[in-house]
Amino acid sequence: MKGTTGKIGVTTENIFPVIKKFLYSDHEIFLRELIANAVDATQKMKALAMSGDFKGELGEPVVKVELDESAKTLKIIDSGIGMTSEEVDRYINQIAFSSAGEFLEKYKDQIGSIIGHFGLGFYSAFMVADRVTIETLSWKDGSKAVKWSCDGSPEYEMDECDKEDRGTVITLHFDSEGEEFASKSRISGLLDKYCKFMPVPLVFGKETEWKDGKSVETEKDNVINKVEPLWARKPADLADEDYDKFYRALYPMAEDPLFHIHLNVDYPFNLTGILYFPKIKDRIEVTRNKIQLYCNQMYVTDSVENIVPDFLTLLHGVIDSPDIPLNVSRSYLQSDANVKKISGYITKKVADRLEDIFKNQREELEGKWDNLKLFIEYGMLSDEKFCERAMKFALLKNTEGKYFSMDEYKTAIETEQKDKDGKLVYLYATDVQAQYPFIQSAKNRGYDVLLMDCQLDSHYVNLLEAKLSDSRFARVDSDSVDNLIPKEEKIRPEMGEDAKAELDAVFQAVLPSEEGHYFVQPDNLGEDEAPVLITQSEFMRRYREMSALGGGMNFYGEMPASYNVTVNMQNPLVARIVSEMPAAEVVESAEAEEAAKDGGNKGLGEKRKEELQDYARGNDLLKQIIDLALLSNGMLKGKALGDFIARSSKLLK
Ligand code: ADP
Repeated sequence: MKGTTGKIGVTTENIFPVIKKFLYSDHEIFLRELIANAVDATQKMKALAMSGDFKGELGEPVVKVELDESAKTLKIIDSGIGMTSEEVDRYINQIAFSSAGEFLEKYKDQIGSIIGHFGLGFYSAFMVADRVTIETLSWKDGSKAVKWSCDGSPEYEMDECDKEDRGTVITLHFDSEGEEFASKSRISGLLDKYCKFMPVPLVFGKETEWKDGKSVETEKDNVINKVEPLWARKPADLADEDYDKFYRALYPMAEDPLFHIHLNVDYPFNLTGILYFPKIKDRIEVTRNKIQLYCNQMYVTDSVENIVPDFLTLLHGVIDSPDIPLNVSRSYLQSDANVKKISGYITKKVADRLEDIFKNQREELEGKWDNLKLFIEYGMLSDEKFCERAMKFALLKNTEGKYFSMDEYKTAIETEQKDKDGKLVYLYATDVQAQYPFIQSAKNRGYDVLLMDCQLDSHYVNLLEAKLSDSRFARVDSDSVDNLIPKEEKIRPEMGEDAKAELDAVFQAVLPSEEGHYFVQPDNLGEDEAPVLITQSEFMRRYREMSALGGGMNFYGEMPASYNVTVNMQNPLVARIVSEMPAAEVVESAEAEEAAKDGGNKGLGEKRKEELQDYARGNDLLKQIIDLALLSNGMLKGKALGDFIARSSKLLK
């Protein structure tokens, strides 16, 4: 062949500046593209040997990367099928598709995304190099070695050369923009990121060892991809230990995972992978973005937001699929039919696996539930389909540490915890220590109390209420135990408006004013029950919590806390406080009646109010029973707590 020069067959005058510009942010992918080509050529060679088309000695083919830091050159060397001069012409010069120019015009904005997708992978070398050469010898009998060289303009040179062994050497001369890659540590970092699981051994330099206090090179080739890509093997051949070991190779710093899922489909798309459930303790954000996406064992990215449903980005592991359009833009990804199917498939697989664990490894599931719970609740809250499935295997934990499935729990509380309207009431606590007295009184009544102490539980409780028919959730401290699950129409204390107003005045006088609003309500809780109970309504509390978590509804978040103060009129201490109240003067009372008739709802005159307030402030017994109620809620603090202790000693004398 005579030395030739020519013009690369793209009609757009010069595509390289375009490529450089649009791929600016992702310069490093040139290495992946070139190595992927080398791997391809090597595997095609292996296939030819397998089929018998190639009869020579194949040996143990490797791909080599050689860096010359001072000359700023990088070589990618393979012993794959190579190219004849016709093939170089066809694959490199013609750029794989005839309508390149037209195409580039149309998709100027997405030029970065079409690289690799339409046979432009090789040209990504020009993002970092101002000269690229190809020396190649085809496996075909009688082929002559070819050298191709190009400086980044559409002009190239092509000539024969004296390369003796089969395969291809690509040489990059880094330009000023590619200079950063003329560094051993940079290349080694990239190879580790992209090529760790490549199917052909990848050699970069020699192994080093410590000798006389410094690191020296040994004779042994430094192989980058030493860890076997476990996902490419059959699940049946693998033990739990293998999966754990692989996890540690992927995430050396992470804690051991809880469970794994081995994915393996070939229809209607190709997908393999291993996903791990990590231990999620409290914050969701830190665990995200750990799934690595591969394409034929070549790393692509670890941002998989558009490929797997949001909640599954909490999982760790690898997904490998040649069917995910890797280089297309994100918005396109979302609407891609394959991607949608893949996402649905992964969700289904995750649910299948969890259901299987629920059925066959119940004890293990219970043991790991606390660390798995946040993930499952997040999945249920964000993915309708997953939620439907998860209702079968999601567990509820009670305050005694026992676990139930939804169905089991329903059966367990069905007889005791139905209210008078036939609604099943799920009682729950968020803090076993702080709500101890309330939990205890519910248990004494024969009720069971769930523990809902996770970050998402206020949303989760709402979700369960919507999913479980004829049911509602009530936090144990949201009302007196009688009112939590009202059984029959209760006989309310018989009290006139005046008497209620007087009781209110007496209690308000000694309730802490800075904490929030208190609504004093007389009630009959039974002689043996506490004299005073302070509760926060389920509705108000839940909405305050949800708005704190960022669920909109800020109106509730900004309102001060409000509490119900239930005064147990049947308790003897309360009876004593009421009976010792100063008697109202007749005149006052008449005035009050006047006021009531005029439409004033508080029938108390100022004078009477002051009289009652004085009585209240001097009544240690009253203060004591209120403080006891505050104490039960963890609301007695600081000076109030000091006063309570001092008063207690005084009362005991
Ligand atoms: P793609 O790999 O997406 O087809 P490239 O621009 O990277 O696009 O490569 C174009 C073609 O050039 C390849 O399809 C292959 O036929 C040929 N080629 C590239 N690199 C090599 C190599 N190292 N050995 C043999 N053929 C190669």
